[in-house]
Amino acid sequence: MESGITPSVTVIGGGFAGVEAAWAAAEHGVRVDLFEMRPERQTSVHQTGDLAELVCSNSFKSNLLTNASGVLKEEMRRLGSLVLPIAATCSVPAGEALAVDRVRFARDVTEAVESHPLITIHRREVTELPTARPLVIATGPLTTESLATQLQTLTGAESLYFYDAVAPTVTLESLDLSLVFRASRHGKGADGSGGTKGTRGTPETEPANDDYLNCPMNHEEYMAFWTELVGAEAADPHNPDDKTAAYFEMCLPIEEMARRGPRTLAYGPMKPIGLTDPRTGRWPYAVVQLRQDNREGTLWGMVGFQSRLKWPEQRRIFRMIPGLASAEFVRLGVMHKNLYVCSPRVLNATAELREHPGLFLAGQITGVEGYLESAAIGILAGINAARTALGKPTLTPPRETVLGSLCAYLVETEPKRFAPMNSNFGIVPELETPVRDKREKARLKGVRALEGIDGFVSEVARGG
Ligand SMILES: Cc1cc2nc3c(=O)[nH]c(=O)nc-3n(C[C@H](O)[C@H](O)[C@H](O)COP(=O)(O)OP(=O)(O)OC[C@H]3O[C@@H](n4cnc5c(N)ncnc54)[C@H](O)[C@@H]3O)c2cc1C
Repeated sequence: MESGITPSVTVIGGGFAGVEAAWAAAEHGVRVDLFEMRPERQTSVHQTGDLAELVCSNSFKSNLLTNASGVLKEEMRRLGSLVLPIAATCSVPAGEALAVDRVRFARDVTEAVESHPLITIHRREVTELPTARPLVIATGPLTTESLATQLQTLTGAESLYFYDAVAPTVTLESLDLSLVFRASRHGKGADGSGGTKGTRGTPETEPANDDYLNCPMNHEEYMAFWTELVGAEAADPHNPDDKTAAYFEMCLPIEEMARRGPRTLAYGPMKPIGLTDPRTGRWPYAVVQLRQDNREGTLWGMVGFQSRLKWPEQRRIFRMIPGLASAEFVRLGVMHKNLYVCSPRVLNATAELREHPGLFLAGQITGVEGYLESAAIGILAGINAARTALGKPTLTPPRETVLGSLCAYLVETEPKRFAPMNSNFGIVPELETPVRDKREKARLKGVRALEGIDGFVSEVARGG
């Protein structure tokens, strides 16, 4: 990994983030050494030696510019994404979403990277963190143990998570607030029955803040909800070596708690004690508590609702909760193996580690969630790694862009509440002039984001 006269960047991991980082750096005229361990060593979910292999769904979500995911894709195109033009050439019909023929897609990405004159691919596992800088680590949610251990040493044990136990998060604007009341239990925090997140199996301790949204249920509503929950379909474990069930003994999925008996939830995460509904002056039979999830108060997490149910099942059943009939879920419950750092503690919005100049993280390992989100952070890391190699200052994407909002989420979220996030308009700042119509508001946020990204593209091109 010795660097020649031409400035060079090292990238570890040839997944979504790694290929974009390598491509972005190479397109900035920097030589790139890209290390990918497959096919020599496989992860538990990848099946080929191709770069950017889709491990599960073949969808890159919406293409619409009224959807944050569609806007992020357009931002990435304008920033010179590698994967999106290729996705367009091997797309399959999927309505307003962008979906691809996964075999053609990964093969074409691999061929493109292999053909780039400035990129050299090394097919081997990296077991020791290279000393070369700039370095981009993009080894994803299934990073090998040796590298994970080194990352842990680098970032601190409390800043590296190995598993996810995440409860769903909804947008405030999608709630029916007429059915919901604000209160905190006896004027304190939630009941410690597990937070919106209990990473590494440890139920979150009681927070000091006291402002919750409470969705009250009467006995009939509760029993209907419980019946659906115990009969719901669980997700197939994505991961064949899935050991999360044992791991999360301390932090049970809501459906598993429900299976212990009809009243378990009403005495557990849904207990109503100390929550007086101002409309009745009484405690309801059961309550689902929502806790503010971002600084702006646009996202709210369902307290104690970590779940392993299939996502369509989660949507169907959680929309039975009073106030959540039209809920927009920006994140659904997951409990799976997923290595990522606590970015708010260690990362800059430029994707560079605060305490380690020249060392960038990219992809799911930063705490974003999703193929495209991972790829987008890869582009940013690649641009900034190349700029570092060229002796230029690193850049932060504008806050109003979806990419900039993801970065802000990564670095500004309270570490205790940090959980992997995908693109959504809930993390994008509100418009200066409030707009009531949801679709129009989304469209305007999209327009503003694309203006922002155009400014960023010019800034990147200016050099400086
Ligand atoms: C089981 C599972 C299913 C998922 N399903 C979806 C889905 O359907 N839709 C979605 O949008 N997102 C999904 N995700 C989330 C996430 O978006 C993807 O995992 C995405 O591929 C992350 O991109 P990445 O580049 O960060 O990591 P990856 O795409 O996983 O790339 C990391 C690469 O690094 C390599 N690597 C790891 N360690 C080393 C090492 N030590 N040396 C060299 N190379 C190494 C790996 O072989 C891999 O190629 C899923 C995640 C998992 C774990």
